[in-house]
Amino acid sequence: MGASVASIPGIHHVTCITGDAQKCVDFYVSVLGLRFVKKSINQDLPDTYHIYFGDYLGTPGTAMTFFGWPTWPKQRVGSGQVTTVSFQVPAGSIGFWSRRLKQLGVAHEQATRFGADALVLRDADGIELELVGDANDDRWTPWPEGPVEQDHAIRGFHSVALTVAEAAATVELLTRTMGFRQASRDGKRLRFETGEGGPHSILDLIESPEGPEGEESIGTVHHVAWRTADAATQVAWRESLLEAGRNVTPVIDRWYFKSIYYREPGGVLFEIATDGPGFTVDEKPEKLGTTLSLPPWFQVRREHLDDVLPPIAVPTTTATGAH
Ligand code: ZN
Repeated sequence: MGASVASIPGIHHVTCITGDAQKCVDFYVSVLGLRFVKKSINQDLPDTYHIYFGDYLGTPGTAMTFFGWPTWPKQRVGSGQVTTVSFQVPAGSIGFWSRRLKQLGVAHEQATRFGADALVLRDADGIELELVGDANDDRWTPWPEGPVEQDHAIRGFHSVALTVAEAAATVELLTRTMGFRQASRDGKRLRFETGEGGPHSILDLIESPEGPEGEESIGTVHHVAWRTADAATQVAWRESLLEAGRNVTPVIDRWYFKSIYYREPGGVLFEIATDGPGFTVDEKPEKLGTTLSLPPWFQVRREHLDDVLPPIAVPTTTATGAH
């Protein structure tokens, strides 16, 4: 089964739902200091945005992305969803981030996650985020013009936390098919790792039989995507998941990567996405996010989309914090 497929190195991207693309951009760029790397459309609902934030290049493992769906229901967070998205920052940077968030008027709390200091906060749509002081992942590419000095900048994802009504079947899929291993436990929180382990490879699983059930709504995570090196490995994953009884989509070309989708038994939507070709397939690194980027097969809709999509202003930033 899973053993025949090269292991999943870690998180590829996390996709959420925003009710206000502009507020979302203001938060992720001006507060968290992520770069706005791509302005595109949801390929299944092409009159709506799909916007992407990440490191300088949107390296797999750093891309937080949003569907702009202002008419969706109000936030209903619960089981069957990724309920917390955690970013990694250097262990010594938690104080910096606490001061920065306070200065910018962003409420936050201190927490400890398996021995690491963390800050818990919410984004513009109410999605629960953590900054975990446990960075050891140097695959990220710094954004020199970003508003957060590079010593303290977010290094991409640390982990995702899933809430499910019943953990057993999810645990079985993770460990028997997807190659995850249980690393530790803290009360009701089970920690799993994949690949080389550590930040970027972590999935926390929380069992919550008492509910409530989550619903696809503004301020929730739509899905988490896991990395795979190439198209051949992706096909092997697809076969392995089908064998394990999952209902998996065919391979879909997302232009920036190829994707397959399935629900894990707890109801959380998973994607497995190829590392390449990445966000520089249609814009130069220095121009990322500056135009409405459309896959070739959507170019015929460009004029219509220019008319119906609300404008987005990306905040201009200057690196600060040389203190
Ligand atoms: Zn995705």
